[in-house]
Amino acid sequence: MVDVEKILITRATKIIDALSALDASGAGVLLLTAPDGRFERTVSDGDLRRQLLGGRRLSDTLESLPKIESIVATQGLSRRDVLDLMNRHAIDHLPVLSESGRVLQVLVRREIDDQILLSTPHMGDAEREFVEEAFRTNWIAPLGPNVDSFERELAQCVGIQHAAALSSGTAAIHLALVLLGVERGDRVFCSSLTFAASANPIVYQGAEPVFIDSDRESWNMSPRALERALEKARREGKLPKAVIVVNLYGQSANMDPLTALCDRYGVPVVEDAAESLGATYKGKASGTLGHMGIYSFNGNKIITTSGGGMLVSNDGAMIERARFLSTQAREPAPHYQHKVIGFNYRMSNILAGVGRGQLRVLDQRVQTRRAIFQRYKNELSDIDAIEWMPEPEWSVSTHWLTACTVRRRKSGITSAVLIRRLAEEMIEARPVWKPMHLQPVFSGCESFDDGDDSVSERLFADGLCLPSSSNMSDDQLSRTIECIRRVFLSE
Ligand SMILES: *Cc1c(COP(=O)(O)O)cnc(C)c1O
Repeated sequence: MVDVEKILITRATKIIDALSALDASGAGVLLLTAPDGRFERTVSDGDLRRQLLGGRRLSDTLESLPKIESIVATQGLSRRDVLDLMNRHAIDHLPVLSESGRVLQVLVRREIDDQILLSTPHMGDAEREFVEEAFRTNWIAPLGPNVDSFERELAQCVGIQHAAALSSGTAAIHLALVLLGVERGDRVFCSSLTFAASANPIVYQGAEPVFIDSDRESWNMSPRALERALEKARREGKLPKAVIVVNLYGQSANMDPLTALCDRYGVPVVEDAAESLGATYKGKASGTLGHMGIYSFNGNKIITTSGGGMLVSNDGAMIERARFLSTQAREPAPHYQHKVIGFNYRMSNILAGVGRGQLRVLDQRVQTRRAIFQRYKNELSDIDAIEWMPEPEWSVSTHWLTACTVRRRKSGITSAVLIRRLAEEMIEARPVWKPMHLQPVFSGCESFDDGDDSVSERLFADGLCLPSSSNMSDDQLSRTIECIRRVFLSE
């Protein structure tokens, strides 16, 4: 914050004193005021230089400084408005005036231009070394020692036997479906409340997605809705080839009842743990509770390789087959024999190096994201219109994203209003995923609700995710919390 008192000058100020004030304050600008204290114009070191070049001496006053109309702001402008004003006029300082024309404060670009994003990459100390090793040894390919080590280290980290490093989480889901024999005309059940990447691979295989609602306790797949869907499918003789259970925002679904149901109907489970690496369900790692699990290392996830994914399973033959399919399904022959259609889905050795470094800080990232959630929860506990994503007793969530709902009747404020107000302050918040059964691209697909109405639709209507980056500063988190308080307490 600029100390306004230190940069106030008048036309009676000598050029040399103006230069000293400029030098001492470090603000980069002076405020020329009339004798009655009203603001007249800003003065930069360029203005002072031009005075000297025009023949004035250091001991002369600013009497002959030209009159110009400086850009000023009034109180109550949003951060976004202030930055737009600065950009439009190519200025770095903006005096804020009172109604009587006095300077209340000076806004400085480097303080204003600070966007707070939902979830940003956060590198540790070791990534660079692993990547440099790949360069030094010229392993610049979608195979190599980092890939092998990353697979081993991740498998060990989550307590599973086998892992295949791939180019994305989406690729991992796609290969899981290929390995389970999903084909044209088959059906695959999938959580409705998720990102489209969970369901798209079903359509890549020409199969038909069926969407399953969330439950209230975990926001993840509802065992009740799944049971109804499986029962109906059995009656119709069209049981799905797989069920994709998604773990949202760092939290496991209630896996025991879900896997028990799937076992009863003989349907394999693919756990989409793209958002829940580092979380546990009854002490076991999220992503390891189905027949296969997938993780994502996209740039926004809790750890990242910039882009990447992992398919994990205790079935070694499956993972071996995944490696084969992900490298173009080349049979071991010098002329590249092919018996099945393959994919180019393998992770590069460079990115696997990033992944190895990231894995070493995963625990820290989980602790930080959980602490961010706790701060939101504690410091907004008096705003009872906000309800936090629940964490059932069987779940330890990473809180990859801090998610909440806004009770609209109570506050008059909707999640959409809150998101817009945060955006005005250059704070990125987003609605909870739009359920897949509401997406135009899946409009023809069957879906099953948790009860009489749709939990996922309710969550979409009222829910939002708040900035949760593990490398956001305490100040940025305070700014976000302050902004939320202002939205609720001023209305
Ligand atoms: C990010 C994400 C994916 C896709 O992972 P990519 O690595 O980006 O392909 C799949 N499912 C969910 C729930 C995700 O959040």
